[in-house]
Amino acid sequence: SKVPPIILNNGVEMPQLGFGVWQVPDDEAQQAVTTALEAGYRSIDTAAIYGNEEGTGKAITSSGIPREDVFVTTKLWNSDQGYDATLRAFDTSLEKLGLDYVDLYLIHWPLPARDKYVDTYKAFEKLHADGRVRAIGVSNFYPEHLRRLIAETSVIPAVNQIELHPHLQQHASREFHAEQGIATEAWSPLGQGKGLLEVPAIVAIAQKHGRTPAQVVLRWHLQLGNVVIPKSVTPSRIKENIEVFDFSLDTEDLAAISALNEDRRIGPDPATFDIG
Ligand code: NAD
Repeated sequence: SKVPPIILNNGVEMPQLGFGVWQVPDDEAQQAVTTALEAGYRSIDTAAIYGNEEGTGKAITSSGIPREDVFVTTKLWNSDQGYDATLRAFDTSLEKLGLDYVDLYLIHWPLPARDKYVDTYKAFEKLHADGRVRAIGVSNFYPEHLRRLIAETSVIPAVNQIELHPHLQQHASREFHAEQGIATEAWSPLGQGKGLLEVPAIVAIAQKHGRTPAQVVLRWHLQLGNVVIPKSVTPSRIKENIEVFDFSLDTEDLAAISALNEDRRIGPDPATFDIG
């Protein structure tokens, strides 16, 4: 594969770069994921709430690529938290995907006010023990939520998928994850393509390397050790976003991008986000 793996804390290999499908309608997901698989992506990030597990699964099962060569992530939606509801929701996701296991299952949001993420995670531990999920983890968890989970359950999460890009560098979370052996996965790694890709420092680094700003930002993540899951439905961008393993940023480039941190979120604050 074009994309080197990282080794999760349970020994499972996960490609360091994958394809995200948030906001891709189900009837377009099959085409987008097919394009991504043809371009060399071997990791796909979906979620029950994205409503495109069927299209995503069809692309995977009809690709001709052996199942064990594709890393599939899906996520448990908020309304399904709780032990029994989680087991039911997992069955539904698996059925929609048309698969008999997933590689990574994530709790989508912690919803601390509902106080259900520990019970939810205990159901994840059962799914893992039953061999239906190769790795379990969380998304949008603060270190305080992870500390509680680690204290009250047995399996340390393999991954925490959080909003992370040059304007929101998440130093405290990254440091905590490293201490605990949890992989940091960056969502909206391109800052959703909004202002970030026009920032002069990034444009200058892109010109210096003969690359695009998106490639430079993805390269910054990879060199920091983050897992990234950029999204696009445009074939040329899908290809561009995986062509990032044949150049590297130097220390000066990395420092210039690291200087762009503003602790500025695009998405909601996980401490208070409570829909669904
Ligand atoms: P992203 O940072 O990947 O940006 C995607 C957007 O950037 C595209 O829609 C396009 O407008 C632009 N873009 C992509 N490639 C480009 C290129 N080469 N050149 C110029 N512009 C380009 O944002 P995202 O989709 O929000 O995040 C990626 C994935 O992360 C999602 O698809 C989803 O799988 C995941 N995600 C997870 C959560 C969560 O709560 N766990 C939340 C949001 C996203």
